[in-house]
Amino acid sequence: MNIRDPVELRGSLLRVANYAVGVLRFIYEYAMKFNILIFWCQMNYADSARIKAVLTNCWFSYTENSKEADIIIFDTCSIKQKSEDKITGKLKTIRPDQKVRITGCMIQHNMRSWKLKAESSKFNVWNFIWSLQTKKPEILWMTTDEINKNSKSNIQNSKSVWINNVFNPVFHNLTQKRKNIELMRRIDDTGFLPLMLKKLWYDISYDQELINEYEKILPEHVNTSMNVHQTTAYIPISTWCNQFCAYCIVPYARGLEKYFPVEQIVNEAKTHLKNWVKEIVLLGQIVNKHPDFITIVKEILQLKWLKWLRYTSPYPTYYTKELLALHETEEKLCPHIHMPLQSGSNNVLKKMFRWYTVEEAKACIDTIRKLKRNISITTDIIVGFCDETEEDFQQTLDLVNYGNFDMVYIGIYSSRPGTLAAKNYSDNISRTVKRDRRNRLNNLLKDISRKNNEKEIGNIKEILINKISKWVIEGYTDSMKQVIIQPKAESRKPKAQKNKEKKEELQASSFELWAKAKVGEFLTVKITKAIPFKLYGEII
Ligand code: SF4
Repeated sequence: MNIRDPVELRGSLLRVANYAVGVLRFIYEYAMKFNILIFWCQMNYADSARIKAVLTNCWFSYTENSKEADIIIFDTCSIKQKSEDKITGKLKTIRPDQKVRITGCMIQHNMRSWKLKAESSKFNVWNFIWSLQTKKPEILWMTTDEINKNSKSNIQNSKSVWINNVFNPVFHNLTQKRKNIELMRRIDDTGFLPLMLKKLWYDISYDQELINEYEKILPEHVNTSMNVHQTTAYIPISTWCNQFCAYCIVPYARGLEKYFPVEQIVNEAKTHLKNWVKEIVLLGQIVNKHPDFITIVKEILQLKWLKWLRYTSPYPTYYTKELLALHETEEKLCPHIHMPLQSGSNNVLKKMFRWYTVEEAKACIDTIRKLKRNISITTDIIVGFCDETEEDFQQTLDLVNYGNFDMVYIGIYSSRPGTLAAKNYSDNISRTVKRDRRNRLNNLLKDISRKNNEKEIGNIKEILINKISKWVIEGYTDSMKQVIIQPKAESRKPKAQKNKEKKEELQASSFELWAKAKVGEFLTVKITKAIPFKLYGEII
């Protein structure tokens, strides 16, 4: 080719471009497509983003449409028995020609409770708690008999990643009914997915420099959040939990906590921000327990393009005065503090193994209320925990009144096998009493929420849009209040209006407003109306 000849050069470039388009089309059409069903928690969304990053790096292609997927990945949750039942129900809906891979809490929790029950476990429990830090693990997929023949010491010293049969009886039971289940594995082994897939006879290519350090798998250009838009990124800063609250399965499902390095976290934040992210949510089971939490918050607050910073879930005793003060002085640190208090009774808190008192919780609320910035406080409450008396419940109502919480996420207690509460206490509050307490708490909350929301009328707020339909824009404020915007003629759709002229006028004005708004963008609105848990506004 004569590159000085413009005609020949142009022709050659076109041929290269055509070839590249052909290769891309081939990859798109023939690469195996996968879809991930993510069950509920924010951490699972962050985990699934990492699974997507690893798989797309191995030439699998992601599809939003589960019907066209060759492989369906279940990223599971085991927080309640109901959650697991829903997941096994969902398994039944997968077509037999679609391969199924299962990971997440449900797998590890079941495996551990089964193993812990075994009279003399020959398995290495630690293998399931710690991540393997090796570049060349052995992927073990043995029959149950083979596994049982291994002595504990052999396994303890091995650099093995266990898949499938090691999760007996879960794997065994499920695969008896569903032959299309091809892989069960720990979420912590996501970095070794390429090796596992080779073990399953997939012919794949991958980066030889495999890493299994979860925090180093960077989900660049991948939506890590529960939102449909990519303006929010969830960044895990620690994993799992050592707290062992009496009712909670998390420490058994996932293992002991591990903190990620500050540099890694800040780098991940920078990468997301370069890719148009504006809101960052730091994640951890006890996010504010990270020994460098303040440093992480301060460093991320300095980053260019960041608009809002949040974190979840915190533990009350790890709130420091320094952290609370940052909420006052740092505009980008959202004016919203979630403080999961669980109960307003010291007796119940003690039984729950929550290591704070109601008095300490109130002192923390007082400190927040004294800040010069208006901070929205929300909490989690469990009603009907073992032995909770009417007096205990009254104390919870008192605490909710005292806290003037904008939202209370109410959970009705149900015993979870494997937890300390299930082993040691009786689930002795009747369903009727539990529901009655839930309803009474909810009524109080509605009242508080309505009063707090009414104070917002007339305020100008910025919202992040997470949904646009023909007649409604929905978004949320930095204090996590839901805002709904309707066309000025309000509340009623023009379909219901008989006057044709009015309908056209409304459509024209709405079109103009609606045309400007986009999911994932910010919008300035004036709050015009308030009801419990929701604000209504107008675009200004
Ligand atoms: S802090 Fe308690 S409730 Fe939260 S994940 Fe850990 S054990 Fe569960």
